[in-house]
Parts: sequence; C-alpha cells; structure tokens
Amino acid sequence: MRLSLIIPKWPIGSLWGQIFFRFPYLSVTTLAGLTNDAWDVSIIDENVAPLDFSSLPDLAAISIMTPLAPRGYEIADAFRSKGVTVALGGIHPTMMREEAKAHADAVVIGEAEQVWPQVLRDFRQGVLKPFYQATDYIDLAGFPIPRRDLLSPKGYFFKNTIQTTRGCPFDCEFCSVTSFYGRTYRTRPVDDVIREMGHMEGGFVFFVDDNIVGKTSYAKDFFRALIPLRVKWFSQASLTIVKDKELLDLAERSGCKGLFIGFETLSQESLKEMGKSMNRAAEYQDAVKMLHDHGIGIQGSFIFGTDQDEPRVFSDVLRFIEKVHLEAALFSVLTPFPGTRIRDTLQKENRILHNQWEKYDMNHVVVQPKKMTPRELQDGLYWAYTRLYGYGSILKRLFPFNKNSFFYGIQNIGFRQGWKKTLKSTTEARRTQRKETSD
Ligand code: SF4
Repeated sequence: MRLSLIIPKWPIGSLWGQIFFRFPYLSVTTLAGLTNDAWDVSIIDENVAPLDFSSLPDLAAISIMTPLAPRGYEIADAFRSKGVTVALGGIHPTMMREEAKAHADAVVIGEAEQVWPQVLRDFRQGVLKPFYQATDYIDLAGFPIPRRDLLSPKGYFFKNTIQTTRGCPFDCEFCSVTSFYGRTYRTRPVDDVIREMGHMEGGFVFFVDDNIVGKTSYAKDFFRALIPLRVKWFSQASLTIVKDKELLDLAERSGCKGLFIGFETLSQESLKEMGKSMNRAAEYQDAVKMLHDHGIGIQGSFIFGTDQDEPRVFSDVLRFIEKVHLEAALFSVLTPFPGTRIRDTLQKENRILHNQWEKYDMNHVVVQPKKMTPRELQDGLYWAYTRLYGYGSILKRLFPFNKNSFFYGIQNIGFRQGWKKTLKSTTEARRTQRKETSD
C-alpha cells in the first residue's frame, strides 16, 4: 500500500512561496512516523519539489492551511478523478469541514495524530468514514520520531524542526492557535525532546512551538537540559519572556540565538482590542534591549489594518524597527482566518471582502479597514516591506554587527529576494487584471 503525505504549494504572490528560508512541516513527518511498516510512505512538499500525478498512491493525505486550500482541493480533485482515495486534514479542514468534505473521501478534524492509525486501518478494511474527529487533545508523551529521512534532500534551509509544546496560554483574537488547540498548553517530557534531538543532524535547531515560554517552569527545565548539548536554537515566544530574568538567562545559556516575537502593533489600544494586553507597547524598546543584551536576535511580527491604524502606521512601525535594530520582521495585514474571534466580529460588521482563500496569506487585504481604504492598506504593506528589505534598512538594523549578524544577514537577503519576486508576480497579476478589464 502506498501513502503520499502532501503539502500544497503556496499561491503565486505570497511571500512564503518565494523565500528560500524554508523549513519542513512537522505535520507530515509526524504522521509518517505514526504510519506502520505495511505502508510505503512518501512526503511531497510542493514548495520544494513538484507533484507527479503519473505516480499514483493508494491513499493521499493532504495537510491544508487556509491560503493553501484552493491548491489542496485542486490536488485532491485531481487524485480522486484518477481513483485515489483522499484524506484532508489540518487547520483549514478542521474549521471548514463541510467545504473540505466536498473534495475528500475523509476529513480529519483537530489533531490528526490521535485518529491517524484508525484512518489507515479503516482504509485498508474498506470502511473509511467521512469524518474523523479527535475526541481529546493528545498527550505529547511518547510521540514517535518524525520521519525526517523522507524529506526532499534539497529545498530546505535546514530540516531540524522539532516541537516541545503545543498551544498557547493566551488567546489573541486574530490567532487560530487557541481555536485549534483549545485553551490547552501541553508540554512534551524534556527527556523525549532531548532523545529526539539525538536523531537530528548537527547545526541549528528550530523549535516550532507557538510559544516556547508558555509555561515558565517547563521552559526553565528544558533550557537547563539543553545547556550541555551546546546547540544553537530558534523558536517563537511571547514577549513575556523578558519578565523573568532567570528564564532569559537560561535561554541565552542554552543557545537561544533568535526568537520570533509578536509585537503586532505600537498602539496599546489596538493591543487591548486584539486581546493581547500582556504586551505593553511602551516597554517594547526596553524588552528588545534585554533580548539583545542576552545575544538573542529578534524577528518581530507586526499586523497592519487594525481599527486604530491610519496611513501613517507603516512609517511609524518601520521607524521603530530600525530604531531598536530588529534583525528581521514580518508584516501581515489583518486576516480573519476561519475559527478566529476576529472573523466573527468582522463578519457581524460586514467587513469581510471575500473568501478567496488563496488571498488569506496575510499579504493580501481581505477586510475593509476602518481608517484606510483597502488599497491604502495594500500599498502600505508593499511600501513597508520594500523599505524593510532594502539594503539601507538591512544595514541600519544589523549595525553594529555582532555574532548573530552573519545568520541574520543571510536571512535578510533571503527575505529581500523573496519579497522582490513576490512584488514582481503581484505587479504582473495586476497588469493582467487591468488588461482583462479594459478588453
Ligand atoms: S501569544 Fe501568539 S501564539 Fe499565543 S494566542 Fe497570541 S498570537 Fe497566538
């Protein structure tokens, strides 16, 4: 029996589809680790290698995030027309189960790991059900080793992605983490994580947690266990990390070289509206300094298009990023993903412009902002990204150079190239659209 685990490609015009700074998705390597030896398993990530429709599996399982849904459905329909059974799972099918079912023989709702062995068993016995829903949030103890050996040898910046926790104790209104994982914050036994790291190649490690410091006592134990391994690691964390000096010291000593941190906005009013009041905008500058003083680089995340944002927000945020020397940043426009509280609010206010899921990539405006036009928001995002990844800003942000500058220099160049390609494809798409309209 042949099983293909598939990640669809990102749409044209999305920054994520263009950057070479790619990491493998743990969802498919973990499911491969849970699949027994009776199966011949392959992993196909369309973002690094094309999908070959001439070689058909018995079962195709496609993992889908919202902006990848149209391509995921296209792949599913193509396989089903050739007689291949298709299962869909991931965050988008979980939130949009009936929509997904129209393209699949089975839809996995919630965390797939709990029901995956059942899906495989039912398929082999010819009794596949339309829906499989995990009844509880799974215990992360004793997780299988993800099958990194099945990943394409080329196309990833590095393959060492690993998870230590799931979920987040916070509940920001735009974020789907809590709607997917519930208000649970689960941790893997430290020994399990350390054991799994023994199966990885040397070099950098990326802990793909939603918030690696969601439970301080666990994070401290884990960082202590990392110290003798002498690895260099990156992860995502809430800014609350700077509130605990011991935690920050341990992060540094354990090899933390960079954190992805959601600043989101410089407006405390917007933070309040987002349900992210644990961030204090007035303390951002000091927080960044504390992280830098511990040798930790920062990739900041900012959202444009909140109800408080006026057209000057783009230059304000850019000025802040350069002033505090953030090594890198990612910008998003406010995106109401299915399952989030912001989607309910904007729906009630009739401000969602459309449900073209390929545009839900955080680079395209899909809601009506309050204090700007959609075009102003879209053009503002393009302006901010173009400035951020211009050489002037890169140099300004990375100067004075330190031990992390080489890594972040490469990352910035990667984002610069990716952004230029994104802009080019977007300009071409706009030109084609104008031509079609005038014809
Ligand atoms: S802190 Fe981050 S991961 Fe947690 S709910 Fe907010 S945005 Fe999501």
